[in-house]
Parts: sequence; structure tokens; C-alpha cells
Amino acid sequence: MNTPNAREAEERLEVIWSGARDGLWDWDLAADRLRLSARWRSIAGLAEEDAVAAPPDWFALVHAQDVDGLKAAIRAHLAGETPHLEHEFRLRHADGGWRWVLCRAAKHPTAGLLGGSLTDVTARRAIEDRLRHQLAHDPLTGLPNRALFLDRLAQSLLRTRRPGGSPVAVLHLDLDRFHHVNDSLGVEAGDALLLDIAGGISSLMRLGDTFARLEGDKFGIILDGVRDGQEAVALAEEIGAVLRRPRVLRGHEIICAGSIGIAVAAHPLVRAEDLLRDAMSAMHRAKQDSATLYEIYDPELSAKAKERLRLEGDLHHALERRELVLHYQPIVSFATGRLSGFEALLRWQHPVRGLVRPDRFIPLAEENGLIVPMGKWVLVEACRQMEEWRRGISGTGDLAMAVNLSARQFEDPDLVNEVAGALECTGLSARGLKLEMTESVVMARTRENAATLQALRDLGVRLLIDDFGTGYSSLASLHSFPLDSLKIDRSFVCRMEFEEEKAEIVRIILALAAKLGLDVVAEGVETAEELRMLRDLACQHGQGYFFSTALDRESASAWIRDAPVW
Ligand code: C2E
Ligand code: CA
Ligand code: CA
Repeated sequence: MNTPNAREAEERLEVIWSGARDGLWDWDLAADRLRLSARWRSIAGLAEEDAVAAPPDWFALVHAQDVDGLKAAIRAHLAGETPHLEHEFRLRHADGGWRWVLCRAAKHPTAGLLGGSLTDVTARRAIEDRLRHQLAHDPLTGLPNRALFLDRLAQSLLRTRRPGGSPVAVLHLDLDRFHHVNDSLGVEAGDALLLDIAGGISSLMRLGDTFARLEGDKFGIILDGVRDGQEAVALAEEIGAVLRRPRVLRGHEIICAGSIGIAVAAHPLVRAEDLLRDAMSAMHRAKQDSATLYEIYDPELSAKAKERLRLEGDLHHALERRELVLHYQPIVSFATGRLSGFEALLRWQHPVRGLVRPDRFIPLAEENGLIVPMGKWVLVEACRQMEEWRRGISGTGDLAMAVNLSARQFEDPDLVNEVAGALECTGLSARGLKLEMTESVVMARTRENAATLQALRDLGVRLLIDDFGTGYSSLASLHSFPLDSLKIDRSFVCRMEFEEEKAEIVRIILALAAKLGLDVVAEGVETAEELRMLRDLACQHGQGYFFSTALDRESASAWIRDAPVW
């Protein structure tokens, strides 16, 4: 018989049971009976008459992957190992779907009851899942990002420890000259290209492989359970084929290339970061040779990477320690057969290594921005030298000095002032200076670039496109830029007498330049036959080892004094 107080308590409990937003339940341990509130049932979509009378009925509703975890949590709590039961699992809804629920409960110390609540946390889990996905994926391609890639790689490396576990291979892909696409066709075109390439590579993946976008134009692949590097090599070749597929972006045909580094590990103690770094240094080695698609990591490489770091450290002091020098390569006019000017080429007189070629240090200087102060120095020094020759040696009044400008210098808002200042402080007339820049700088259709080009032209300085034919420039749009000359890249000139295709390209460039009223400098002239062919094609200027290599200032002075006539 309930006392009035007990009845009141019962009634209050009833209110709570029916009113609570959470489902409530208790489990009479001795009788093995469950009592569930209406809300509990509605979370599972159950009607009043659906019998869930004992724990086995409940467990039957729990997701197969979650049921053992739930039972273990209950057991641990009943055994006094945990102060509360608190566990999330999936519960089947009558509609056939799953609901994520949070079950919280405690055992009554004397009554032989386990009781608590059940909360539907499906919405919260969905948000968490989405967040987790966003944190781990690249928004553009939807591929895993670097963090997830490293996480998965760590897992894969752990699996190599299992009996019969086999090695893991990592591929690191970096697109070649991708920034040219961004610079010349715009970021949207760059994104479209990345998406297309990512799609193509995704289709090569097997179940269980990971393909991630590490950053920008760098991608990573994990191949689990390989026998050796051969599977990775086969995949690298397939990726190469995907890259080479011709693509048309904004009316431009784009031929893509990339460099791939491969590293293989068979040991669980290898760190994911280290394996990725190994693959990356192999990639850098592949990049050094444009004909090489992939390289496999070998430990000697990391010595080279260290060397690169050391070189970069030294480069920071090169300017202040006056270790930079200019060499001058003669440029010959085909019309007169005489010297028409020089190209200033930078050299680094390293105290220990001796003369370092620009290919070794200019890419470093471009990456870390040192090219900007170095370029300023080159500009002034080259102008000063030209003016010194013009004043000191007769017959040099028409010679011009060509100076290379890197893309980074072009971003410097002070560039036009620097050029004007270099002319002013050295006294060289603007006609005595030519600036060489690559296609991507000229084609980057930003208003700033167009304005800078025009401002340089307004100074009276002449503008050249360097390495013409190797970039993405659209021939048709050349006329809209204030240019004076094209320099045909030496890869077309060199051996043009043996390779008809090269000769044809040179012919086309010359015809185009004539139409646009531009004159042409052929780079890399190495033989008398090349000189003859270029003359026949009415090319105006030539530069190359056939005439002379780049000379230090004394040798260049001597060359001016008794230059041969070709
Ligand atoms: P570039 O502007 O295309 O310069 C021409 C390069 O071709 C020079 O290499 C030159 O020595 C080399 N060369 C000339 N004739 C021949 C030939 O007949 N056959 C062959 N195989 N090569 C020939 P170098 O001096 O090693 O310069 C390499 C690159 O470094 C230059 O290529 C240029 O892009 C860059 N560079 C050099 N000096 C400067 C500079 O002051 N500023 C900037 N931004 N870049 C520079
Ligand atoms: Ca040049
Ligand atoms: Ca060049």
C-alpha cells in the first residue's frame, strides 16, 4: 500500500517520465525487466505495443558494430569500474534508418536498478561528421588533405608490423610550372585544371588507396600492401599519361607535366612525415630533369637536400659580401655580322664552392624573395658597365645591355622607379637597356602588369620575351603587349639543323614575329650551320656558344675591342 507521500512521489515521477525531452529507462536487474518512457520509444520510432521488455530486445535494436561496446560499458559499470554509464551508439529506428543516441545511467546502490536517460544526438553527430570531413579534406577537390594523409600513412605504417604485413609506398606528385597557368590564364582556370587532373588520377586508385591534395599543386598517394616499388612505378606511369592528356582551358591548349617522387617503407618505426619527406626529395630530383617523370628515393638524396639548405643560408650573405658578379654574353646582329650588345648573366663567386651557376641559386632566390634585392643590384651593375664601355671604347654607342627580370621583381611596385633610378644614376640612356622577361609575366593579364610594362616602355627601355616557345602564351594575343623582341628558346635552336620539327617551330616564330613587327634573337646558336639557317630565315640576332660563352668584364672588354665580324 502506498502512503500519500509515496503516491505523490510516484505521480511526480510519472510527470517527469512523460515530460522529459530525453528518453528515460530503468532495468530491474533481478527480474531482468526494462521499463521505457514514451520518449525512449519515440526515439526508436516504436509504438506502445512494440515489446521491448528485456535487455535482449533492446540490444537487438543496436547496430551490430556498436552492440559489444555497449554491453562492455554496462558490464564495467555494474562491476563498479566506472562511476557512471555514458555511451554513444546507433539505435535502429522503425523507419529502417539509424539514430545516434547517448545513453547515460547509474546503478542504484541498493534497489537493484540501473536507470538513466537516452538522448537523440543524431543531429550533433552529423555536424561533427561534417566538421571532421571539412577539417580533413581539401575544399576544392574534396580529396583528403595533408593532415588526413599523414594520419592514414601513420596507420598504414603500423600495419606493416602485422605478421605478413607488406611495405607501404608513398608517391609525391608536383605539377611542373603550374603557376604559369594561374599567372597567364587566371586562378579559375588553374582550379579547373587541378580538378580535372585530380579526377583523372582518382580513377586510377584501387579500393583502399589514399589520394590526397597536400597543398597547391602537390598531391600524395599511399599504396598499402605493395610488394616493392614496382607497383608505385607502374602507377606513376599511369599518372604521367593522365597529365599528358591534352586539355583546353579558356581556348588555350594546355599540356601538363609533373614530377613524381616515390618512397617505400617496410618498417613501423618509420615516421609518416619522414616517408613523405623522402618522397618529396625524390620528387625534387625528378624535377631537375624535365624528361624525368619519377624518381625513387635513395638516402643519398637527403645529403643533397641538406646541401641545398646550406647553399640557401650562404645566399643570404652573398650580396652584402659582394660575392655576386656579372658575366656578359655577346649578342650578334645577323645584318651587320657585328656585336649588337650583351646579356648580363649572374654568377655567384662562392668563397668555398667557386663559381656557382644561376640554375643552382636563382630558383632558391626566387623562392625566398632574395631575387628582388639581387635583381636591383644586377640592374645597376649592368647599366653601369654598359655606360663605362660606351664612354671608354669607341664605336659602342649603339650597344645595348639585356638584363633578366624575374617574375618576383615584377610584383615589386617599385620596379619602374628602380629601372628609372638605375638609368639615372649610371647615366645610361634608356635605349641602352633591354629587359628580358618570361612569357608568364607578360601574359599575366593583371592590370598592374600591363601598366608596369607600359610604364617601362614609356621610359624608352626595350622589352623582350625570354625563352619564347616554352610557356603558355597565346601567339594571337602577343600584339596587345608593348614588346620589342622575342628570344627563341635555345631548345628549338640547338640541333635545329638535324631536327626538322625544331626548324619548323623556329620558322613559325620568325614569321609570326615579322607580322607583329618584333625582332628576334635566337638563343643557343652553337654551330655555323645553325647560324646559316637562321640568317636564311631572316632572324635578326643570335647569341650562343658559337659566338661566345658569357665572359667576365675584362674578357668582354677585350671582345668589344677586337670582336670578329661574322
Ligand atoms: P637565360 O636568360 O635563358 O640565359 C641564357 C642561358 O643560356 C645562360 O645560362 C647562357 O650561358 C646559356 N647559353 C648561352 N648560349 C648557349 C649555347 O649556345 N648553348 C647552351 N647550351 N647554353 C647557352 P646561365 O648563365 O647559366 O643562366 C641561366 C638562367 O639563369 C638564365 O637563362 C636566366 O633565366 C637566369 N639568370 C641569369 N642571370 C640572371 C639575372 O641576373 N636575373 C635573373 N632573374 N635571372 C638570371
Ligand atoms: Ca635571358
Ligand atoms: Ca633564355
